[in-house]
Amino acid sequence: MFALVGRSIESLRQVARGLGTVLKHAAREPITKEFPDTMPQLAGHFRGRLALAVNPQTGDHLCISCLQCERVCPDKCIQITSHKSPETNKPELINFKIDHGLCMFCGLCTEVCPTNCIINTNDFEMADYSRESLVYDLKKLTLTQDESAHYYSKKELPMPKPKPKPAAKPAAGAAAAKPAADKPAGKPEAKAEAKPEAKPESAEAKPAAAAPEAKAAEESAAKPAETQAKAEDSAAKAIETQAKTVETATKAEETAAKSGETQQKAEEVLKAAEASTKTEESSEKPEEKTREIDLGRVPAKSDEAAETKAAEEPKKEGEQ
Ligand code: SF4
Ligand code: SF4
Repeated sequence: MFALVGRSIESLRQVARGLGTVLKHAAREPITKEFPDTMPQLAGHFRGRLALAVNPQTGDHLCISCLQCERVCPDKCIQITSHKSPETNKPELINFKIDHGLCMFCGLCTEVCPTNCIINTNDFEMADYSRESLVYDLKKLTLTQDESAHYYSKKELPMPKPKPKPAAKPAAGAAAAKPAADKPAGKPEAKAEAKPEAKPESAEAKPAAAAPEAKAAEESAAKPAETQAKAEDSAAKAIETQAKTVETATKAEETAAKSGETQQKAEEVLKAAEASTKTEESSEKPEEKTREIDLGRVPAKSDEAAETKAAEEPKKEGEQ
């Protein structure tokens, strides 16, 4: 009996508790959102559709084509096309493709991006009718300046600084047009501008230091010393030039002596050559005589042979 009464009390308590919860929620505002009529408030770190932010101030693209996002992507759904700019010698972005059909929204690409160019937006409404339409190109991925500014503030990212403009090259025509006489003309201007400013200061400072008379005396005392030093310099230069002329004279003498020696040697050589030719001539003459003698003997022999032949021929005719 007591047990039955205890159980009924407990059940009534649970019913009252349930009714209390119902009453509590009945008096409260609903927390469910009627999407798509009401858009949910998403946190800044929500990882939705990927996009390329631009500089909110200038609208310049921030991607430097470093390809880090492409390399780190585990799904290999990023495809970057770039080329090396001939002007800056740096990679320049041509196209940027992300296949959102493959992307798993891990956010690794946004983590490695050095310029915070690629970001996860809060956009998650990407349903489409074909897989091809999920491949976003550079135009589709690029955010506007306002959108970029919104996401930079929402994600608490440091605002990118504007690109430093390349130093303006001096125009070729302008450089050519600049006459050489401009420089000398410019210098006097600068001097004229600088000196008048400097002189009054010195004029203001000097009166306190020394009187103009003392200054003149100092200048007059300094001038003779300067002239003496100049005279010494000129005397030293004259001595140097004298020494140089003496050196050149000795060199000329040496060369003349050498030329005389060579001439003598040449004469000796000529004489030796003449003597040798004479001896050759004298040695050649006996040979000629001996030749003549030899030549005289040869016809004698031939004559003898002709005589013997003539004697033999009648003998042969007789035998026949
Ligand atoms: S979020 Fe992940 S999967 Fe998607 S593109 Fe970036 S790195 Fe690749
Ligand atoms: S990491 Fe950033 S800067 Fe480098 S290619 Fe990807 S989006 Fe461009």
